[in-house]
Amino acid sequence: MAHCSNCGGEVRFSIDSQDLECVNCKTHFDPATYNRTPESLEQEVYKTKVFTCPNCGAEIESSDLSVTGFCAYCGSAVVFNSRIKEAEKPQKIIPFQISKEKCKDLYLQKIRSFYYRQKDLEDPAYLDRFVGFYLPYWLYSYEFNGDFSLKGNRNYTSGNYAIHEDYNLSGNLQGDVKGIPFDASLRFDDDIAGVIAPFSKEKMKDFSPNYLLGFYSEIADTESKTYEKEAFSMLGEEMEREILGPNGFNRPDIKVQGKFDASCLHNEMSVDRGMFPIWFLSYKKKDRISYAIVNGETGKVYCDIPIDEKKFHKSSLLIAIPIFLVLNLLFQVSAETLPIITLVLSAFLIFLSQVQLHKIRVRDREALRYSRNKRQEEAKNTEQSGTFRALLALIISVLILLWHPVRDEYYYIAAVLSAVASIFSLRRMIKKFNLLSTRSIPDFFEKKEE
Ligand SMILES: [Zn+2]
Ligand SMILES: [Zn+2]
Repeated sequence: MAHCSNCGGEVRFSIDSQDLECVNCKTHFDPATYNRTPESLEQEVYKTKVFTCPNCGAEIESSDLSVTGFCAYCGSAVVFNSRIKEAEKPQKIIPFQISKEKCKDLYLQKIRSFYYRQKDLEDPAYLDRFVGFYLPYWLYSYEFNGDFSLKGNRNYTSGNYAIHEDYNLSGNLQGDVKGIPFDASLRFDDDIAGVIAPFSKEKMKDFSPNYLLGFYSEIADTESKTYEKEAFSMLGEEMEREILGPNGFNRPDIKVQGKFDASCLHNEMSVDRGMFPIWFLSYKKKDRISYAIVNGETGKVYCDIPIDEKKFHKSSLLIAIPIFLVLNLLFQVSAETLPIITLVLSAFLIFLSQVQLHKIRVRDREALRYSRNKRQEEAKNTEQSGTFRALLALIISVLILLWHPVRDEYYYIAAVLSAVASIFSLRRMIKKFNLLSTRSIPDFFEKKEE
């Protein structure tokens, strides 16, 4: 905890005033210079406390807060283990711009646009569990200079002639690209990081541990080498855009052959550590968890939204009745066409459930990468999709079509059976949808061992 030099009260970073504020006497301090000594400037590290969740193994840091109550990653109420450590100083930080209140508003706006959301996702006590996190990023910067050459051609017709021209395109490229960011934490889901991106460089400041007062931070546990290749290829794309853009060969009729290779230039890379702000909330129900993440700079929202099944069934029924009545008025459905309708319906349901299953598999692959036992459980679980029931509905319809009975009653009975099977299939699919909008509880212990 940092103490106010005025009254001894607690000093925290204030998002509204973008500086440090004493909680007690409201005196403001400049975060860049507060508590700064010549020694602290030279130090490459700063003191912080690491908290480990005994349940899932997630680790977070804070220099002044104690972590109480809930673990943001696994959503369980736990007592954290803690130890002091020296963390390596980042070079850059984007201080929080979005306050907790504003973050709650943005989140509510987002989930209220989903009609079938579960009501408890709006509970104020639950929303209060949003915690401010700084995520570590690797920032790759390049300075480059050099000559390049590319091949291009132009095809056109002039009179009776088809003309083909080849070009050698060459030029000199020099300049720099600063701070291409990559999420440096293993725990934080790369997909979520992608959704809430980008962070801008405008609000970026030189790092001081003072900005962290009142917040948590994630630990950088990937090496800067991890993303070097990707960062370099992004640099190449950036250069290619430049070469083909208004400052380069911006001629729509000339086709450039092949890809630009950035390694032909002389370049120097430097890597910085950066800290970017997010608000983090988790929602645990039984053995599934869902996350809501709000970009602490731009307010961009990511959230998993599970469906309220009861609500879904009630309103589906309410919609189905008028549709049924209208259809009945408009069309005279003969008994013979009934199985065709149910056939189409069940085929559609099979298709939907298969698409959904695929999505669940893709998503859980990430969460389950580190947990072997859960992986097997989950594999069993996904097999029980709505597909089997919809298939049953489909078979009933086909059989009755093949049989072609004389009495209408058989058609009706088959239609009812098929409809019931379809309804069960739908129910399964909603359950699966909730699986899709939630995740397996993470287990970071195994991750460490690997
Ligand atoms: Zn004070
Ligand atoms: Zn945990």
